[in-house]
Amino acid sequence: MAAYDYETHEYDCIVIGAGGAGLRATLGMAEQDLRTACITKVFPTRSHTVAAQGGIAASLGNMGPDSWQWHMYDTVKGSDWLGDTDAMEYLAREAPKAVYELDHYGVPFSRTEEGKIYQRPFGGHTTEYGEGPPVQRTCAAADRTGHAILHTLYGQSLKNNAEFYIEYFATDLIMAEDGTCQGVLAWNLEDGSLHVFNAKMTVLATGGYGRAYFSATSAHTCTGDGGGMVARQGLPLQDMEFVQFHPTGIYGAGCLITEGARGEGGYLTNSEGERFMERYAPTYKDLASRDVVSRCMTMEIREGRGVGAEGDHIHLHLNHLPPETLALRLPGISESARIFAGVDLTKEPIPVLPTVHYNMGGIPTNYWGEVLNPTADDPDRITPGLMAVGEAGCASVHGANRLGSNSLIDLVVFGRAAGIKAGQVVDPNTSNPTLNKASVDAALDRFDKLRHADGQTPTAELRLEMQKNMQADAAVFRTDKTLGEGVEKMYDVAGKFSDIKVTDRSLVWNSDLMETLELSNLLPNALATVVSAEARKESRGAHAHEDYPDRNDTEWRKHSLATVGEKVELSYRPVHLDPLTTQDEGGIDLKKIAPKARVY
Ligand SMILES: Cc1cc2nc3c(=O)[nH]c(=O)nc-3n(C[C@H](O)[C@H](O)[C@H](O)COP(=O)(O)OP(=O)(O)OC[C@H]3O[C@@H](n4cnc5c(N)ncnc54)[C@H](O)[C@@H]3O)c2cc1C
Repeated sequence: MAAYDYETHEYDCIVIGAGGAGLRATLGMAEQDLRTACITKVFPTRSHTVAAQGGIAASLGNMGPDSWQWHMYDTVKGSDWLGDTDAMEYLAREAPKAVYELDHYGVPFSRTEEGKIYQRPFGGHTTEYGEGPPVQRTCAAADRTGHAILHTLYGQSLKNNAEFYIEYFATDLIMAEDGTCQGVLAWNLEDGSLHVFNAKMTVLATGGYGRAYFSATSAHTCTGDGGGMVARQGLPLQDMEFVQFHPTGIYGAGCLITEGARGEGGYLTNSEGERFMERYAPTYKDLASRDVVSRCMTMEIREGRGVGAEGDHIHLHLNHLPPETLALRLPGISESARIFAGVDLTKEPIPVLPTVHYNMGGIPTNYWGEVLNPTADDPDRITPGLMAVGEAGCASVHGANRLGSNSLIDLVVFGRAAGIKAGQVVDPNTSNPTLNKASVDAALDRFDKLRHADGQTPTAELRLEMQKNMQADAAVFRTDKTLGEGVEKMYDVAGKFSDIKVTDRSLVWNSDLMETLELSNLLPNALATVVSAEARKESRGAHAHEDYPDRNDTEWRKHSLATVGEKVELSYRPVHLDPLTTQDEGGIDLKKIAPKARVY
């Protein structure tokens, strides 16, 4: 039994994560005078949300006709009919309110000439239930929307007396014997002290797990810590096989090269110098849809026509364009290429690779953010005391594929919903639960064991092995064979974690231990992803399976649930088909959102 002193803190609510979702939940709870603390491993405004540029979707109709019903329809179609109807309705209906709130809190949105919030067009957002022209629905603060939202929400949270524990790493949930969540164990990275947070409501807002892959546009901090914590309590993860890829991340660094680069005339080549997209998509070529381009690039690499010493990436050319055009239209990209690939793009191609951009799957919740622990009899059973919001959660509004600008709105709508729900179920006048000592001890033991881990396998080595396997076998190109191999290799990698080696035993700023804890969270996310993908014998949204090219609504319109132990146990949960309001109540016409082919 590990002997550690720890400090205990009592709050009504604790929120783990200070990205857009965590801060919106923190603010909502603090505003209602619930004693609220936000715990974050990085400074709040360094959360990955800061990188979001494009914007946030809401049917304000500032730049032409729009309605929440159209937004809902686009989201349903975007999800390839895997999203939960009630949650998607809630998202689309509440979106305008959530954006106006942000505006009033002080987010400096760009403006139209009349002074309204400026909105830009984004892929998949349309009018007239997909029959009309594209709509301008994406509200933007220049190309720094995430940055603006984070700074505003952090300021507002402080104003409402939320307390912040910054550079504290949450390691494990504390659970009562009856399965109620009681809080979390956290490690103060700066001084090495340990802290138990006892709370009536714990909210996981820890972001995605892009870093399970070799190439990801997300920050190095996106290690699926919330999913790992949940999995260790025997709770399932939902729809993990759905991972969104962007065709052009910079090889190695993963930073995003916008689609605009190909829009300006950029094109891709293989090791033979061939513009291979002409072969796969004669009409749209390099401007075919994201998933198509990503799949073709992967096929070229798999067939031995990748570039570079390891033949494992592709070239993106912009060097045929006039330098003035590059300076005028793509200044940011020119800078990223120089910094992250050492490339002068007026002279040489940029090395690129299809890159993980977003995780549709995550911790299953209802549209109030309450975490689900489904049984066969009750697929919507909740886990008392536990919520999940943002990219860590799966409400599920993105289903099999997320539309651009629908994530930022997910953060604020469901962060806000979690606050509203907490106001209903958390009573500030009752005392906090008595902590389950066995659960605290188990969390301390795991921490101690990893701190003193003395095996043969360095963390960085095992992490790289996981990332390369996931990139090769659970990425864009999926067949029974690659997924089968992927499952075997990932079990092998996960097995090696028991042989992990941590060299630094100290408690102060021990990045070796922190990365090991992160790897212990990435692994269950990665396993759940590849096992769920191997089992799903159809193609839907981001899960494009070469052996089963069609969507199969009869057998597969259902959510995958992966419970990760030594092996991954799979079960399934029905998709919510009923909306919150019917057409008679001014809501959505069910006929309009009935499944059909997803063509754009
Ligand atoms: C480059 C890029 C551009 C994007 N552009 C857009 C866009 O234009 N529009 C759009 O809608 N979406 C966009 N997205 C997607 C969107 O930005 C993300 O899905 C979203 O920001 C995730 O927010 P979050 O609050 O869930 O988590 P994050 O912002 O990732 O924050 C996670 C938080 O959890 C904390 N945390 C994690 N683990 C622990 C732990 N163990 N202990 C303590 N704290 C922990 C971190 O410190 C951090 O504060 C983009 C994503 C990327 C990567």
